[in-house]
Amino acid sequence: MANRTGVPPAAAHDDPASSQVARYLAADAPPVPLHYLTYLFEHVADVIFFLEVLDGDRYRFSAVNERFTQATGLPVAAVVGKEVDQIIPPDSLALVKSKYREAIATRQVVRWQEVSDYPTGTRTGDVTVSPVIGEDGACRLLMGVVHDITEHVRIRQQLELGALVFENSHEAIAVLDPGGRIETVNPAFTAMRGFSLDEVAGKAPRVYDAGLDEPDFNDAMWTRLRTTGQWQGELWSRHKDGHVIAEYRSITAARGADGQVRNYIEIGTDISDSKRAEELAWRQGNYDTLTGLPNRQMFLERVTQAIEGAGHAGFTLLVIDLDRFKDVNETLGHSSGDEILKEAAQRLLDCTRDGDVVARLGGDEFTVLLQPGRAHAGGEPFSVDRTAQDIIHAMALPFAVGDETLHLSASIGITHYPKDAADMESLVKHADQAMYMAKQQGRNRYAYFSHVMQDRAQARRQLIKDLRTSINERRFEVHYQPIVDLATGALKKAEALVRWPHPQRGMIGPAEFIPLCEETGMIVELGEQIFETAVRDVAAWRRDHGACLQVGINVSPVQLLSDRDSCERCFQMARKAALPEHALAIEVTESMLLDNNPFVIQQLRQIAEHGMDLSLDDFGTGYSSLSYLKKFSFQFLKIDRSFVTHLEPGTTDYALCETIVTMAHKLGMRVIAEGIETPEQLELLQQAGCDYGQGYLFSKAVPAETIDRWLAGQAMPWMNRAPQKLT
Ligand code: C2E
Ligand code: MG
Ligand code: MG
Repeated sequence: MANRTGVPPAAAHDDPASSQVARYLAADAPPVPLHYLTYLFEHVADVIFFLEVLDGDRYRFSAVNERFTQATGLPVAAVVGKEVDQIIPPDSLALVKSKYREAIATRQVVRWQEVSDYPTGTRTGDVTVSPVIGEDGACRLLMGVVHDITEHVRIRQQLELGALVFENSHEAIAVLDPGGRIETVNPAFTAMRGFSLDEVAGKAPRVYDAGLDEPDFNDAMWTRLRTTGQWQGELWSRHKDGHVIAEYRSITAARGADGQVRNYIEIGTDISDSKRAEELAWRQGNYDTLTGLPNRQMFLERVTQAIEGAGHAGFTLLVIDLDRFKDVNETLGHSSGDEILKEAAQRLLDCTRDGDVVARLGGDEFTVLLQPGRAHAGGEPFSVDRTAQDIIHAMALPFAVGDETLHLSASIGITHYPKDAADMESLVKHADQAMYMAKQQGRNRYAYFSHVMQDRAQARRQLIKDLRTSINERRFEVHYQPIVDLATGALKKAEALVRWPHPQRGMIGPAEFIPLCEETGMIVELGEQIFETAVRDVAAWRRDHGACLQVGINVSPVQLLSDRDSCERCFQMARKAALPEHALAIEVTESMLLDNNPFVIQQLRQIAEHGMDLSLDDFGTGYSSLSYLKKFSFQFLKIDRSFVTHLEPGTTDYALCETIVTMAHKLGMRVIAEGIETPEQLELLQQAGCDYGQGYLFSKAVPAETIDRWLAGQAMPWMNRAPQKLT
């Protein structure tokens, strides 16, 4: 084992042992010197060992090479001269010895693979054991070579694993050559894309491109791949049968040891299902399922975008509310309501241009976002008025629902960005206020937002707040306006009229706040407070003065319709006060009788059953049909002030008054004329046969104490003012 390093001297070619390898050499080649073989033994990459065959299945190391010591970690001296039992681990020994025996018995080279644990790690060796046969024919020496195939095994296993993954993966895998052409594809590729290997081999993945991505998408992808070796993202691909696939794709460059790209590995996942689910969720979140229009959320997003991108001319927002839709919905049912909403949505789309946004905010409220510029269909220059008129007109056309034909209308509020508001919330709020204005002005029309309107809305909100507080603190007062017997001038009745002593604004009349109370429902509570006061006052007058004065109380339709309990509470108050019959008269307006509402009819009956009279207030301002009066037992009819104001001899108003009085008397009712201001009016009404009168000629509404004093005997002012007319 000398001379471990360095090349042996070339002169040693006459070494006799070199003749042993002569048969591997050309006939005329010089013999190979023995120390060349020693050199080979020393430097060969394989483990080489010689075993002396001893009796009784024993073997002794007679020589091992340098590689042996490297692999086992044992120095040559620790191995040579030792038997295999001392060197080879016990669990391998039986196999190894059986192979030795086989080589000796068969005189053949025996080969096997062996996995061994070495200090350097577990290694797989390809072991060859050759028997060396002596001249006597006996085998006394075994020559072993162990070729380390650990790396080969590892690579083979990896390849097998790779193939297994490739074959069984659920992802569509395509292996591309460095030029981007397909080399091979896996079964999942064919399953997802419909193409077999034969159909795509040698082609670029564009074969299954859907052509839906941006034009430079592919170039950008390859640029990125070539610079970074990696690309991933979502794209659209196309199945062989033509359908489009939403795909998540990743492409990775696979490089060789030299750093050059060997292949590109393309892995595609079909995400169509999750995309569909995502899209559905997105649609549900952004679109109204009934009409298919963008919903509030989407609409607000579009308004934000419009604000961001608004040019010089800004843009316009319309809020559209169907008039009386609630009634239709409640009377005909929700499915009819739905039909109307769908039809209304379509009409709105027909009235707008491409690019305008039509959305449904909820209920019967729609919006339209109008961008300036583009002309209307037909070439007419764009105008907001024209669009609003078109919508008003379209919504006023009849709606066919089932067998019914319905007539609705729309009210529209209009705001302009940036003229009316600088942010989205105010813009929408202002459009709403304008829409509300359009409703108040009589519906079936459109109104532009104005800051005056906003101030009014602000004042309204403040008034509502103040009303609430005043109701809670019971600050309302009830005044009484005398109603006199036109034949005698005697004080027979008084109408209870509510007054609001406002902390800042002084006394406010009911015309200003009753409608608001009705709208907000506060009238129920306020009505009860008024009723309570009136009952208390009339009871006191009757008790203290023995007077048979009747007090008229105005009752709002809202009060009568909306709250059964409230009416019951009022009846209870009357019962508790133990008032005699006819002490109270309830004043209602004609509008309440119109739709024959069974609940109203029942309430009116109840009023009569509780011994109260009924007065038909403001007669002449509504439908003025005497025919339905027969159905209800009204004791009094009040001719509205508007007739009395213009009363002159020989006028239609006079004729009307006369007719009303005559007919009312025939129907068993007595007539009260409202708003008598002049002696002339009084005289004409007396002539017409009117029974009672109320008006500033006699007195305005006065506090309860004034009535109290009059009943106690103090002179009533009208007795001096117009005595000649009254008696
Ligand atoms: P109404 O029931 O028709 O009451 C008569 C209204 O005419 C009263 O106005 C009264 O002050 C006014 N008036 C009476 N005589 C004359 C006159 O000679 N000339 C003029 N220019 N006006 C006269 P007021 O008090 O402002 O009430 C307005 C309306 O508010 C009432 O009309 C009634 O509908 C409602 N209202 C008043 N008090 C109540 C109430 O306690 N409850 C309910 N629900 N409504 C009430
Ligand atoms: Mg009244
Ligand atoms: Mg009236």
